[in-house]
Amino acid sequence: MRLEEVVSRLDVRERVRGALRACPLCDHCLGRLLAAVDTGMTNDHRGRTIRCALAAGPPPETCGLCGGLFAAADSWADRAMKALAGWQFHTLAVASHADPQITEREQALWQLAGRDMAEPYKQAFNRLLGTRLCERLGATPDLSSPDVIVIADHAAGAVTAGIEPLFAGGRYRKLARGIPQCRWRRWPTSIQQLIGDPICRAAGGEDHLFHGCGREDVDVRCLGERPFVVEVIRPRIRHVDWAALAGEINRSGKVEVLGLARCSRAEVARLKELHPEKSYRALVRLAADVDDVHLAHLADLVGIIHQETPSRVLRRRADLVRPRRIISLDWRRILARTLELSVRAQAGTYIKELVSGDGGRTRPSVTEVLGTPAECAELDVIAIHVG
Ligand SMILES: [Zn+2]
Repeated sequence: MRLEEVVSRLDVRERVRGALRACPLCDHCLGRLLAAVDTGMTNDHRGRTIRCALAAGPPPETCGLCGGLFAAADSWADRAMKALAGWQFHTLAVASHADPQITEREQALWQLAGRDMAEPYKQAFNRLLGTRLCERLGATPDLSSPDVIVIADHAAGAVTAGIEPLFAGGRYRKLARGIPQCRWRRWPTSIQQLIGDPICRAAGGEDHLFHGCGREDVDVRCLGERPFVVEVIRPRIRHVDWAALAGEINRSGKVEVLGLARCSRAEVARLKELHPEKSYRALVRLAADVDDVHLAHLADLVGIIHQETPSRVLRRRADLVRPRRIISLDWRRILARTLELSVRAQAGTYIKELVSGDGGRTRPSVTEVLGTPAECAELDVIAIHVG
């Protein structure tokens, strides 16, 4: 539908004339009344075309609807540039706190002239300011996950910048024991600090959060590759040399990162939805001698086992019984009373309890099938079977 055709309709001409009589409108606000027509056109161009078609005379000094808001777009852009100075970004979005007085006048005008083809002022302003800023800064508009959000407060005349986090993901291997995944006062360092501190420093961020695809215990190594995302809060810099950063992290000798790269916020949710099977190697100590015939009972553990929440985590987790699948289990005798177990298990299986039985809270267990107390002396995650 072409604008000229629509404006030639008598009912539309009457509506627009009525609106102009009730409220002197700038070209932007006039054009917005018929924004659904000729959508490739800007509102002010549309407004000029309508004004010309109706021979309505020049626009008013000050718009009776927006009070000159649209005409002042460049001054808003100047203030936004000031708010954005010092922050590196590639994509941006504009959001507005509407001026309730403008909204009220707009509602009244829509009552008179109809709103079926109109665009709300706030939406039009956000797009206009976003376009101006992207032109000036060489940025790209992105409404779904921008690097920065420019927030314009129309009533106060103020512009602030919302700095979105920087996300970087990859996979880590934990090469040493005695390291928790997230910052924990009782421990000198953590996977979060070993990986997140250098990334946060390079990005000039204020702080960081760590999102892991599950976690291993403090005393467990993770030799398989565990997916993770680091979220840097208020980063000044987004151009980061990820390969150099991975090299710096890996020099710690405690953790190794692979495939480190920038990622999107959506990766955090994707990570939390993965529930991969894992393979473990466990060093198991037996309290008494067990002959090879009895050791063969370990094969009975393959299949479904039932685990009550381990007594060691009861303070933090609800007490539930969870069925868990043991997919495979192989063993090798290392010493008379020491075994090496290789276990592949469903996500969420507690391996230490699979060995000890946790006082009967995990059934069956190594302790139960061998008929002698068994303890997990060392545990490593060998593989995380993602996809
Ligand atoms: Zn206006």
